[in-house]
Amino acid sequence: MRALSMLPPEDARGLVGLLFDLDDTVLSHGVLTREAYDAIWSLHDAGLRLVAVTGRPSGWGEVIARQWPIDGAVTENGAVHIVREGKGVALQFDGEANEVAERRARLDRLVETVAKAMPQVKLADDVHARRSDVAWDIGERERLEPSAVEELAALVVAGGARTTRSSVHLHATFERDDKASGAIRFVRNRFGDDAGAALHRWAFVGDSGNDAACFAAFRTTFGVENVRAYARVLSVPPRWIAPSKRGAGFAEIAKAIVSSRW
Ligand SMILES: [Mg+2]
Repeated sequence: MRALSMLPPEDARGLVGLLFDLDDTVLSHGVLTREAYDAIWSLHDAGLRLVAVTGRPSGWGEVIARQWPIDGAVTENGAVHIVREGKGVALQFDGEANEVAERRARLDRLVETVAKAMPQVKLADDVHARRSDVAWDIGERERLEPSAVEELAALVVAGGARTTRSSVHLHATFERDDKASGAIRFVRNRFGDDAGAALHRWAFVGDSGNDAACFAAFRTTFGVENVRAYARVLSVPPRWIAPSKRGAGFAEIAKAIVSSRW
């Protein structure tokens, strides 16, 4: 990871778009600060295409794609895409409608299996806004013992689903994408950029372990300062690192990119 101040202006000038994580990258402990929102506007005004890439629900992505000056959102860790269209938004899934419905039905059966086997485990409070994955609360409003978390994870895997874990949620999904493959699929479908163009002409900003695929895939990657806490778990760290944490760091990255373009 090299200091953001060393970013060559030509690297920033070659970019057509910026992909960015939300939690603890743009958002500071869940809050969108004035400086972070200003930074999004300055990137927009500089002519960059902007796409949020998040593990958060597609229902949340629908809201920000309507309200923020962005082109869309890649949500649920790559699976569900929200594209701005006219005054509204359109949702895009991976595959035909019947395949998507079949994966969702398998997920619903898995939720029933878990509810029978572990009735004490509660779903996360944002599941109603999720379409392609499900999350159980292991540390947000509920406290689940580590042994119970392991039992839950084993049930998910036995059901054939893929599982990911954050500090507060354990997720299950039958989708194929991760954040990087989902972002590349979005850029291809929305802008016609092939994977090679996407990897070289779009940059990514993130902060943690679930951004690993994007840090490894994209040529120009940025971390906010708090990414240092995850340096050990990232096989490829971000190329550039901001001096400040969370939204303040995002604003520094935006400033470095925008100022290089004039
Ligand atoms: Mg994050």
